[in-house]
Amino acid sequence: MILYNGQFVEREEVSIDIEDRGYQFGDGVYEVIRVYQGQCFAMKEHLDRLERSSKEIKLDCPISRMKLEDNINQLIKKDRLTNGIVYLQITRGAAKRTHQFPEHAKSVLTAYTSEMERPLANLQNGINTKLVDDFRWLRCDIKSLNLLGNVLAKQEAQENQCYEAILHRQGTVTEGSSSNVFIVKNGKLYTHPANNFILNGITRQYVLRFAKEEHFEVIENTFSTEELLKADEVFITSTTSEISPVVKIDDQIIGEGRPGIVTAALQKKFEEEINKLVSH
Ligand code: PLP
Repeated sequence: MILYNGQFVEREEVSIDIEDRGYQFGDGVYEVIRVYQGQCFAMKEHLDRLERSSKEIKLDCPISRMKLEDNINQLIKKDRLTNGIVYLQITRGAAKRTHQFPEHAKSVLTAYTSEMERPLANLQNGINTKLVDDFRWLRCDIKSLNLLGNVLAKQEAQENQCYEAILHRQGTVTEGSSSNVFIVKNGKLYTHPANNFILNGITRQYVLRFAKEEHFEVIENTFSTEELLKADEVFITSTTSEISPVVKIDDQIIGEGRPGIVTAALQKKFEEEINKLVSH
């Protein structure tokens, strides 16, 4: 089923106006929430970020936060989703095409679920990645529907048999095309600070917490592509990729070419967090 402004409808019954501003301008925001064993993971954090992104682009959510939370849980039940994701987006709605905000458009919220298993092979064996120039706009902190820069980067990675693109601005690593990037050097973790150059990932925030709990020092500071290539360990984080070790960047093998011990310790904490959710 599709959640459409608070109603549950069949996919065939949904019609999106060709002048919807999400369709024409990418004028909207979105979230991807993970579902494990029928339970939402980090729902609060995702809805907080959705509210923040909406506020940053002056967009109103058509339904209340409480109703939205309830609707998402209902959607998961109706679809009998066990493992997968909820994709949720809000656009500024349909109106005669003008760049500036129209006076009478009503925002449109849609959400649907999709089955997805955990990326177990990647978690265990690690992933190959490619360095790609980050030429996106300067508000990457907003989870906006404008993803062309991310799409082109991911495509470049895929065309080079890589799972993810690691983006850099003039040699400073920012994030992945759909993930955050961490490096480990001499037992310390480094990741780009949560500013306008990156999306502050929910998984990133969990990793920061886990690292503190495990007494790993975390430095939220920029690092260069050179430091990236010389790191002892590299991993990416995202809702769908969880904590995926990076074993290769371009032609460079990272560390010993297999997931490192700090990464494995953080993966274990993540696993425990999922199990907490499931056992409740
Ligand atoms: N950075 C970008 C550009 C993303 O698109 C994503 C997720 O899709 C992330 C980081 C990771 O965010 P999260 O951990 O909340 O999924």
